[in-house]
Amino acid sequence: MSLELSTPLRGLKGIGPKHADELAARGLRSVEDLLFHLPFRYEDRSRFLPIASLAPGLRATIRGRVRTAVLRRTRARGLTIFEAVVEDDTGSIRVLFFNQPYLRTAMPPGREVILHGEATLARSGRTGLVLQGPQFETLSDADQEAIHTGRVVPIYPKLPGLSSRAIRRLMHSVLQALPGGIADPLPAGLSSERGFLPRRQALSLAHFPPPDADLQALNEFRSPFHRRLIFEEFFFLQLGFALSRRDRDARPSEPGLRVDDGVRARLRAALPFHLTGAQRKALKEIAGDLMSGRPMNRLLQGDVGCGKTVVALLATLLVVENRHQTAFMAPTEILAEQHHRSFLRMLQGTGHPVGLLTSGVTGAARRQVLAGLRSGSIPILVGTHALLEEEVQFQSLRLAIIDEQHRFGVAQRARLRAKGARTDVLVMTATPIPRSLALTVYGDLDLSVIDELPPGRRPVKTVVRGEETRAAVYAFLREQVVKGRQAYVVYPLVEETGRDDLKAAVEMHGKLSRQVFPDLAIGLLHGRLKAEERDAVMSGFASGRLPILVATTVIEVGIDVPNATLMLVEQAERFGLSQLHQLRGRVGRGADESYCVLMAGAQTGDEARRRLEIMAGTGDGFAIAREDLRMRGPGEFLGTRQSGLPDLRIGDILRDHDILEDARRAAFACAATLAAAPQRRDLVRHLEGRWAGRLGLIQVG
Ligand code: ADP
Ligand code: MG
Repeated sequence: MSLELSTPLRGLKGIGPKHADELAARGLRSVEDLLFHLPFRYEDRSRFLPIASLAPGLRATIRGRVRTAVLRRTRARGLTIFEAVVEDDTGSIRVLFFNQPYLRTAMPPGREVILHGEATLARSGRTGLVLQGPQFETLSDADQEAIHTGRVVPIYPKLPGLSSRAIRRLMHSVLQALPGGIADPLPAGLSSERGFLPRRQALSLAHFPPPDADLQALNEFRSPFHRRLIFEEFFFLQLGFALSRRDRDARPSEPGLRVDDGVRARLRAALPFHLTGAQRKALKEIAGDLMSGRPMNRLLQGDVGCGKTVVALLATLLVVENRHQTAFMAPTEILAEQHHRSFLRMLQGTGHPVGLLTSGVTGAARRQVLAGLRSGSIPILVGTHALLEEEVQFQSLRLAIIDEQHRFGVAQRARLRAKGARTDVLVMTATPIPRSLALTVYGDLDLSVIDELPPGRRPVKTVVRGEETRAAVYAFLREQVVKGRQAYVVYPLVEETGRDDLKAAVEMHGKLSRQVFPDLAIGLLHGRLKAEERDAVMSGFASGRLPILVATTVIEVGIDVPNATLMLVEQAERFGLSQLHQLRGRVGRGADESYCVLMAGAQTGDEARRRLEIMAGTGDGFAIAREDLRMRGPGEFLGTRQSGLPDLRIGDILRDHDILEDARRAAFACAATLAAAPQRRDLVRHLEGRWAGRLGLIQVG
């Protein structure tokens, strides 16, 4: 039978319909999917060890001849034992197989065999070594198809209904049936510059490496075959980004926004402080986009507290002064409400109204906002994902800003953009993700970085404490309050039990108010409060009326109360690194010395302990993110599948960052000349086949 890469696995010899369904559920539908299920390691079974040199616990490949063979039945129901003695020039060893009666014919006396397994001491009264259930091939097989032993052998991650050995056999037969000349999607020039093999060979050899292959390179996914396949995967993803960007740049340019002296003066007047150099640079890049007439698609990245909001506000003002509208989306109601308050405050002098839309805004208030957006009388809208609803329509949406982008998905970004005929998009994130991850997740965005904190900031002193020091921690908290400062006390959400954080926060609020700080006003904030209640608490804390705020993680991102100098995190061992960094970022926002106390429970395990130590050891958000990424992997690190992390089959963002950089450069160069390239159609077709789900979102033209 001759196969193609697109041949469905369903119907392949040995794969029944039910089995095909199970494989499909794992994302394996076609021969191509199967072939990209690469070995996760390789074992050298090419050198045969003399039988005499075997020792207990030694894993080895031997080659010998069957001297005797018997099939016995045990008294236990139906169990069979096939026992053979295999010898070579140096000695012999007993070999046992359970419940494989067919071996009586497959391994008769006189047959040459290759065995791979671990030698163990014989049990119960017998002497010598045995090989129990080794992987084997009889030599007549091995002549044509030495795939399980006698060579560098691929070891696969198991699949439903398929052992590593069965996968190996399947791969081998599929590769045998695949024509030698399957199409190679990589432009030939790119391949030859890098000395890459054609796709077909790279695939074959990644499964069944040649005898001279470097075992270590194979195991590290660094072999030339691996590099070829990884490059291909990254290349097409990046080509998607490159085309999407080229497409954006090629759209008929519209008049850019205008900035005259009047606008400049009003921008300055709205500013309560001088921008840092990094803020100025970011603003310049953003304004450049807005004035260029080409749509903006930009990521503004900067550690917690670096002052992204004010940059976004100035961009907003620029748009509004040009008589267009801006939508600003934040991940939580509390944060949206805070942004709304600070926009109102900073824009007071300008006379521009600012609307608020969250699920908590209902009835007449909601109708009024919606009407104002449609008529254009509300030029600035701040809100949550409620902004994405169908009924939210703008007269002229020009700028969409997404705060804490990592909390949203790529799809939501696209939906907000679609609310304007020609929308500039600015997404902001405090998660200082490593470049390779940024290129993969936000590969179609331009990047602005704020790498400087406002003047006068001091690092937040961070300590890890246990239950036995609680009294001292409370005394310290009181000290801060007496000095006129404020404190957060935060409880984690416990996944398994859902509402524990709420309960813990409510209980602790009661206890702190009644027993520990009966003389102090303590606010309580959690996700189940009504909008007005929440607003009252948040503004109470922001104004300083409430010196202490007990909260769930609703305050994790974005909240900005510069007078707060103490962050007390309860059960800190339950938080991830990035979360702790975000929480800590709630303090240290003013010029005062700030503190973060991480209370670790008695059950804190080694890994959690390590996280807390990292927090105590560094305030560098980038270092923390890198560590978090290393500990949890990109998927967990970014939170959700909808975060935009593409489903990479073999490439690994951390391990293969050098290949990623190379592939990105090549893809962007390729996109620049693609219109004239003869293989344009094939490239785009391959791109769509591979990344179809994702491309809808990044809009390949
Ligand atoms: P983030 O980047 O984490 O969103 P914010 O925009 O909330 O940070 O800003 C953090 C704090 O720093 C806010 O209180 C803000 O008013 C203040 N801030 C921002 N820029 C400056 C600046 N250039 N000088 C002084 N304070 C600033
Ligand atoms: Mg922010």
